[in-house]
Amino acid sequence: MSEAKEAVVVKPVSSNEPDLKSDISMIDENENKTMKKEIKENKTEEVKITKSEIKIRPKFSAPYFADKEKTQPSVEYGFTGPSDNWFSENNYKNAKSKANFNDAKKHDPYFYSYSSHHIHEEMLKDKSRTLDYQRAIEGNKADFKDKVVLDIGCGTGILSIFAARAGAKHVYAIDNAEIALFAKEIVKKNGFEGKITVLKGKMEELDLPFGDGEIDIIVSEWMGYFLVYESMLDCVIWARDKFLKKGTGLMLPDRAQLYVAAIEDSQYKSEKTNFWNNVYGVNMSVMTGGLFVDPMIDTIKANNIISDTCSILDLDLMTMKKDDVEFSSFYSLKMNYSDKMHALVSWFDVSFSKVKNKVVLSTGPYKQYTHWKQSIFYIDRPLSFTKGDTLYGSICSRRDRTNFRELNIKISYHVEAK
Ligand code: SAH
Repeated sequence: MSEAKEAVVVKPVSSNEPDLKSDISMIDENENKTMKKEIKENKTEEVKITKSEIKIRPKFSAPYFADKEKTQPSVEYGFTGPSDNWFSENNYKNAKSKANFNDAKKHDPYFYSYSSHHIHEEMLKDKSRTLDYQRAIEGNKADFKDKVVLDIGCGTGILSIFAARAGAKHVYAIDNAEIALFAKEIVKKNGFEGKITVLKGKMEELDLPFGDGEIDIIVSEWMGYFLVYESMLDCVIWARDKFLKKGTGLMLPDRAQLYVAAIEDSQYKSEKTNFWNNVYGVNMSVMTGGLFVDPMIDTIKANNIISDTCSILDLDLMTMKKDDVEFSSFYSLKMNYSDKMHALVSWFDVSFSKVKNKVVLSTGPYKQYTHWKQSIFYIDRPLSFTKGDTLYGSICSRRDRTNFRELNIKISYHVEAK
């Protein structure tokens, strides 16, 4: 699931992207100075990094990853301690230019966005997403037979119907958006009235016809851009702790992992900026100010990836706590090609691994398109790499303190030349 785009457009320059606020910062002062100097001298926006030009902090070299599927908490300055200390609040309060779209935030459009049929159409048409959920549910009839299922955020009721068809004893389908009323009709029209109870309201506020610890299986499609945007997982974890049967209860999905890799993306970057230079003969280049400050939500081609990949978050949905979505991790990326790097790209996988026939839903560039696309974090200036060099640093993410559905993301990057 990912929130209707119209509802989250708050930036003048990124009409298609949500407001994942990010702050890609150069942490190493020496590195920064070297870069600035070179830019001045060569009059170029590009920076060639070689070993002799860059001083890496002696006590902070690339973290060693024996297994890049295993996340490593960051110990870098500015990325440790409670998440309240990770960001300078002022970074996010100051408007980036005189004109901004901040007023668009005056009302919380979250549930309103899920009341339009367009967003549900988009999700249902996302075949990778919907078919993987169907495989995980209907492909595991033995796991669902005679089970009591809770579908959190049922939307049109599609996952509830999969669960009923898989043999569930009863399914409770809950959604706070107007779509719940359609789900009721859909359930009736398809003959599942006796099997599926649709309830309209917030998961956390409804009076429910079942008691604590009485649910065998929770199914939910709660994932947002960059996995945790929208913070819907909070309510899923709350419901797990209250309603899931202790010991035997199942979460579908049960694991979520977030990855990063480095990409070459000169073509897209220049297309995005050049457009504004001449719009029907009008110079609108001011619109590009801050264009690459917020992440772009878009698809990238797998052959734009120039490094290996590294996991930065690994959530066990059976045991995680609500606040584990706020994380600070190291990443380390080895370059597979000699090329320029323009951005970090990130994507997530969720796994249904506790059922007999396991399924992994991947939103990565190596897999089929999904409506989550990828989240792309551009750096100020491209970096030139030689095959074998390492880009490493920290990435932290927390809920925005004024709107918990948004994210603040900070990334540092350092280069270790071969
Ligand atoms: N399960 C559907 C829809 C997923 S979209 C499908 O797979 O197609 C997520 C849905 O969760 C939205 O319709 C949204 O309104 C609902 N939702 C999010 N948080 C909720 C909450 N706290 N209580 C009830 N519904 C919620």
